[in-house]
Amino acid sequence: MKVIRYQDAEYAEFVQQLDRQAIPSTDLYETVAAIVDAVKQGGNKAVYEYTEKFDKLALTDETLFVSDAELAEAQELVVDSVKEAIAASKKNVHAFAHRSMRQDWNYTNTEGAEVGERFVPYDRVGVYVPGGKAPLVSTALMTAAIGQAVGVTNIIAATPAGANGKVNPSLLYALKESGATQIIKVGGAQAIAAMALGTETVEPVEKIFGPGNSFVVEAKRQLVGAVSIDLLPGPSEVLIIADDSANPAFVAADLLAQAEHGGDSVVGFATTSMELLAKVEIEIERQIKTLSRSAYIRKVLDVGTFALVVENLEEAIRICNVFAPEHLSLIADDEDHWLDKVKTAGAIYVGNFAAVAVGDFLAGPSHTLPTGGSGKSFSGIRADQFQRRTSIVRMDQASVQKSEKYVAEFARVEGLDAHGASVSIRANAE
Ligand code: NAD
Repeated sequence: MKVIRYQDAEYAEFVQQLDRQAIPSTDLYETVAAIVDAVKQGGNKAVYEYTEKFDKLALTDETLFVSDAELAEAQELVVDSVKEAIAASKKNVHAFAHRSMRQDWNYTNTEGAEVGERFVPYDRVGVYVPGGKAPLVSTALMTAAIGQAVGVTNIIAATPAGANGKVNPSLLYALKESGATQIIKVGGAQAIAAMALGTETVEPVEKIFGPGNSFVVEAKRQLVGAVSIDLLPGPSEVLIIADDSANPAFVAADLLAQAEHGGDSVVGFATTSMELLAKVEIEIERQIKTLSRSAYIRKVLDVGTFALVVENLEEAIRICNVFAPEHLSLIADDEDHWLDKVKTAGAIYVGNFAAVAVGDFLAGPSHTLPTGGSGKSFSGIRADQFQRRTSIVRMDQASVQKSEKYVAEFARVEGLDAHGASVSIRANAE
């Protein structure tokens, strides 16, 4: 873990680099643009070619979709304890979603028109569930199950299958439980392009949700317009801000859990206490030995992990707000005081006992959160993103009469007499 103290010469430059902008490199842009264009021109044929190239799987029109037999097999294979965990998570995700849905409303404006908003679920959405490094079973719940709670009728899921053509049974079971109505065995940018643009057999969707690697995220970004998207949720990140009140074993455990996400993830720790840092380093060494993926985790700790010793918590929060971490773990004596000052984190875990992994799998808010600095402009997936919003205006003649003089002024200054006339004709009707 790279340690930088506020007294060090490189500190200012290092902190400055944490002010990230979520924009793609030219290479990434071009790679993804070529895939999107190929799917636009070639449909399924292009999807199959890329799947063969990147996932070593030869798909056909018969094997593109997960079959009913495969879903039934998954239902048999998944053990009851996993089914219970999925049910517990779904219960919390639905409860959270129901509370964050938008409700229809209306009121009467100054001129007497009834104005309001109406919310209806999207008809057909796509959700991407990553499957490159690990089958992200929980991501099915943190995307599709929210659409299910809102009442979306068609939820098409895309996830890469292994070279044997199989999708992990727990993931299939979770997708089915989360309301997925079709599942395609495709990953990467080609999956996003297939869902956004449609192919011979994949009907296009209206909006795409879900996290993925840089190719997936960039494809979503490029396809805005053909579809809308939730946000830009790329490789996972955590920033832990802690003072002396933190339990070093808990901090170490969360840093290790984050490092388990892999080499493209970001693991950051900012503390006011050298003593805490020293204890956390000892704890990391003690705990890493007990983990099955210790060699892999150690690589991430050696390369992608940083610890900052900051002068005070004010500075830590300032850094957090420019860094915009996907997850912030905040452990400090006066938690509420510091919590109020955080603006950009995707999700905030407050206190020693708020483990990020509980949020990842179970707590209720979606774990699909903005990364790479995009938290400065986006928030995590929320139920109301599955709702289409329409504004409604209803008027009687009295309200059109009251509106007329103001409309006439706008029509005059904008030079649009037909606009003014369309109101006057109603205001003056017998
Ligand atoms: P993935 O499913 O996103 O990507 C795998 C796909 O990438 C493959 O199917 C392949 O088609 C494509 N691909 C691989 N190499 C390619 C190449 N060279 N060129 C073009 N396409 C290529 O799975 P993953 O790679 O495991 O990544 C999942 C990511 O999602 C992780 O970084 C994880 O941290 C992140 N994640 C983020 C959140 C969030 O909320 N921000 C939540 C869960 C997961």
